[in-house]
Amino acid sequence: MPFSALGLVPTLAHAAAKLGFSVPTPIQSAAIPVVLSGRDVLATAQTGSGKTAAFVLPLLQGLLADTAATPRRVRALILVPTRELAAQVGDVLQSLADQLVPSFKVAVVFGGVSINPQMMGLRGGADVVVATPGRLLDLLQHNALSLAAVECLVLDEADRLLDLGFSDELANVLAALPRRRQNLFFSATFPPVVQALAQALLNDPQRVAV
Ligand code: AMP
Repeated sequence: MPFSALGLVPTLAHAAAKLGFSVPTPIQSAAIPVVLSGRDVLATAQTGSGKTAAFVLPLLQGLLADTAATPRRVRALILVPTRELAAQVGDVLQSLADQLVPSFKVAVVFGGVSINPQMMGLRGGADVVVATPGRLLDLLQHNALSLAAVECLVLDEADRLLDLGFSDELANVLAALPRRRQNLFFSATFPPVVQALAQALLNDPQRVAV
């Protein structure tokens, strides 16, 4: 089944094909229609399953449908546990968006490096932010960005986010988000702490497991 049969617009399906994604993986087939419907999602997804495109493609479709929004505001926030994952997700997002809306801006921020270039990078605003929670919180405390216009929150590898001790930072970031938004929760495992976070965060989620 092609991507377009999952509800993706042809331009986005074409952009995906250019990245080598022609046939959806099982997690993509299961998740994309649900994300497009606007519902919250609780997905069990392993690394290597194609989970990144499972949320990035439908997320972009929603954002690109309304690109006239000015000034530029952060409309989607993707929280990830590590710098490597942040860079990876940011690359996929930017490569797809560049093909459709060249002005679309993805900001990628993570800890372990100087904060100043990241603050400068956020000055012109961003459409989507991909972040590790600790650095994002630092940036919020420096008023380097606002999350008041976020329409969609993604937690990627939620189990690792908690394993790495990001629970307090997560709580603080969540408090800075509008209450009305779509939430996409991806995790490889669901120990009780992860289940508790999912329950606190998600509103009548559709479960997706493959
Ligand atoms: P992920 O689980 O998101 O880290 O993706 C694992 C790998 O699968 C990455 O190298 C992706 O580029 C690749 N990938 C994701 N979706 C597809 C697809 N539909 N067809 C082929 N490769 C894919």
